[in-house]
Amino acid sequence: MSGLVVIGASYAGIQAALAARDAGYAEPVTVIADESALPYQRPPLSKDFLLGEIGAQELLMHDEAIFAGKRIELLLGHRVVEIDRSAGRVTSADGAVLAFDSLVIATGSRARRIAISGAELDGVCCLRSIADAVDLKARLGQASEIVIVGGGFIGLEVASSAARLGKRVRVIEAASRLLERAVSPVVSRFLLDRHVRAGVTVKFGTAVSAMIGEGGRVVAVELNGGVRLGADLVVVGIGGIANDELAIAAGLECANGIVVDEHGRTARPGIYAAGDCANHYSRFAEGWIRLESVQHAQDQGAAAGLAIADRHEPYCSVPRFWSDQHDLKLQIVGCAGRSDRTVIRGAIDAGRFSVFNYRHGRLVAVDSINNPADQMVARRLIAAGISPTPDQAEDSSCDLKSLLKPGNKAVA
Ligand SMILES: Cc1cc2nc3c(=O)[nH]c(=O)nc-3n(C[C@H](O)[C@H](O)[C@H](O)COP(=O)(O)OP(=O)(O)OC[C@H]3O[C@@H](n4cnc5c(N)ncnc54)[C@H](O)[C@@H]3O)c2cc1C
Repeated sequence: MSGLVVIGASYAGIQAALAARDAGYAEPVTVIADESALPYQRPPLSKDFLLGEIGAQELLMHDEAIFAGKRIELLLGHRVVEIDRSAGRVTSADGAVLAFDSLVIATGSRARRIAISGAELDGVCCLRSIADAVDLKARLGQASEIVIVGGGFIGLEVASSAARLGKRVRVIEAASRLLERAVSPVVSRFLLDRHVRAGVTVKFGTAVSAMIGEGGRVVAVELNGGVRLGADLVVVGIGGIANDELAIAAGLECANGIVVDEHGRTARPGIYAAGDCANHYSRFAEGWIRLESVQHAQDQGAAAGLAIADRHEPYCSVPRFWSDQHDLKLQIVGCAGRSDRTVIRGAIDAGRFSVFNYRHGRLVAVDSINNPADQMVARRLIAAGISPTPDQAEDSSCDLKSLLKPGNKAVA
């Protein structure tokens, strides 16, 4: 029995399977994944789930019956260890062999480990999976002094949750501002201020040089320069690495992820990749990019599934990301990259504003704090290649939606 085999049962893999089936793909569809949980949502792991506001059941992406109803077989708890391209089959660690006509590699990414002494101590954690989150939640309940290594999305979300639980939280960030590669300096400053008001301490321009333990448990982190900070829990959030080793071993082209085209196709017929593990050319980034976001994983997975069902609809969504920290909703649309001009729309003091990022006069990205309406318009503007002038963007009374009407005067 061949058909479609998908490796990875998360956003990209599940969306690929569903899209293929919904588009009329009639052959068997099997999704094989190493985690044993039913497909679940990852973003709440650092937020509502960590805070105990929702449980594991509420994380589920779909009702299990949906998969049976669509004849999608889930093989959970099986780690694929080999892709044999020429024979058209994958093999799992426990010896199961699945033959495929089409294969989607949706193996996602994993948390980057910190390569310093003491990194293996009990109490040094990362957050990627539901198993990590269950463990972290239990430890958080017991801990009082938490050090977070990395002021990126996951580190800041965990910091926010831990502060809400009344813990002493210190964030160590090597760069000179928060989320340096993702948001504009004004948003970094705004977020920093909110964290500080919630009691979180942030130390910039500092690296952690060692974790110090006693009896196998972490008790402190040592910073470059020798200062030690007491910690009974350390959360390392220093970015993700593409799970592309299977693809590399199978001879697929990989460069910070599996290289794919706008249909999620690799250069090998019948083999696709999507989501965090894939690298694609984005006209919005004006270059090759590996994105880690739910929207991207779902949309690219869907494009691969459609192509497998012979419906070729290229993936060309504007990249989008969100993050919830304290009472703030940060949303980002587009790729700011090396923007050369920013203007602010809305009121920073009121905690509701957007930063419009321009490159060579073209709107390339918008970061918003508590302002979903700006995000909706910005997404449509960027997708259509329409740039309001900076004056228009700055003027809250200017109806940016009107620029989307045919015949507008904006720079297209
Ligand atoms: C704590 C947390 C918070 C996040 N918050 C946000 C957010 O607010 N907004 C947002 O847009 N994004 C957020 N993200 C990122 C988002 O979750 C990812 O971009 C998304 O999950 C990527 O989906 P994916 O299907 O590509 O891969 P993944 O979700 O990584 O899933 C890949 C699956 O494949 C499995 N797998 C890997 N190798 C094998 C193998 N050899 N055999 C079998 N199975 C394998 C993995 O175990 C995993 O289950 C967050 C991520 C985390 C961890």
